[in-house]
Amino acid sequence: MEALDKIKRISKDPYSYALNLKQATGKPVIGNFCSYTPEELIYAAGGIPFRLFGTKDDISMADAHLQAYCCSLVRGGLEDALNGNLSFLDGTVFPHTCDSIQRLSDIWRLNADFAFHIDVVLPVKLDTESAKIYMVDVINGFKKNLEAALNITITRENLTKSIIVYNRIRKMLGEIYEIRSNSPDSISAADVYHIIKASMVMERDELLELLIKLLDELKNKATGSTLDTKNKKRIMLSGGICNHPDIYTALEESGAEVIWDDLCTGSRYFEGEINETGGPIEAIADRYLTRIVCPAKHMGMTVRGESLVHQAKKHDAAGVIFLLLKFCDPHAFDYPYLKQFLDDAGIPSILLEVEEQLPSDGQLKTRFETFVDMLD
Ligand code: SF4
Ligand code: SF4
Repeated sequence: MEALDKIKRISKDPYSYALNLKQATGKPVIGNFCSYTPEELIYAAGGIPFRLFGTKDDISMADAHLQAYCCSLVRGGLEDALNGNLSFLDGTVFPHTCDSIQRLSDIWRLNADFAFHIDVVLPVKLDTESAKIYMVDVINGFKKNLEAALNITITRENLTKSIIVYNRIRKMLGEIYEIRSNSPDSISAADVYHIIKASMVMERDELLELLIKLLDELKNKATGSTLDTKNKKRIMLSGGICNHPDIYTALEESGAEVIWDDLCTGSRYFEGEINETGGPIEAIADRYLTRIVCPAKHMGMTVRGESLVHQAKKHDAAGVIFLLLKFCDPHAFDYPYLKQFLDDAGIPSILLEVEEQLPSDGQLKTRFETFVDMLD
């Protein structure tokens, strides 16, 4: 599949892609670490929202600014900013989410050398009337800051087009996930991971074209075959960021298939449609208020647990693997209550703490095999 091959090449080397794209088009590339970044405005401004996933290099320069007990996403991102790997970035946007990202924002502003830096101080509690008013205000403020940084005007027409493009992209990503869940033979979980990762870094018009082709090919290929559940167990992943395609292959080799996820670099990225009628800023604000919440935000005491159980049941998952990035406090705090929800629903789970480097193949496989063996 030609479209998939291209997407995989980009996912495996996003920095070269961004560098070439920048040289070819001159479009501003704007870095961000979090799926609460209102990307629709960056697209409307003619820019490319570029999700940062940390680094695969050794971390040394960042250690002069950050404690060793910060998560590897934050430390790795800073390392790449300081060592010049992100030279293609025009600026960076920091939504107000976890403490680590907020502190990184201050350090980044003082030490990384990019043309602009915007904080988007989103509300923390999302389910109140005042949060809605505040969110609209924040997104309007982001629009003004972006216009000033790029010396352009974001028109209502630009915003409306952006909403339409984003809705199409997110809908297609959802369809690809559904195909994977309903007909796992059609596309591997590792390939779905590459599609999502590329979707967060690519020029979005180019992405849209590739996704249309890919989805066409997949729909023709989808066999409708379900998993042979005696030999393969259906697994769901839950957590924050996952930047480890090897996890999917290790699970496959252990007799399981990832058929859905609740990751911020997964279903939480594409979940939630934006209303295409009415005020665009209000509609964008509404999506960020109502999408499945991450642990750095609040929307009641049970919403995330209910959503996790609902998704696990809907996709017939035999078990859930929590991927916890080492030193990620928000997800560590949410874990006991989410596990309790799964226990109460009779869905087995395990917690896997990961860093930039995964445990050795053998160790990972043993843990997965032990878990998979106990699933019905
Ligand atoms: S888990 Fe939440 S705070 Fe962390 S990167 Fe994802 S959306 Fe942002
Ligand atoms: S939510 Fe967790 S993984 Fe994401 S930046 Fe914050 S501490 Fe790191």
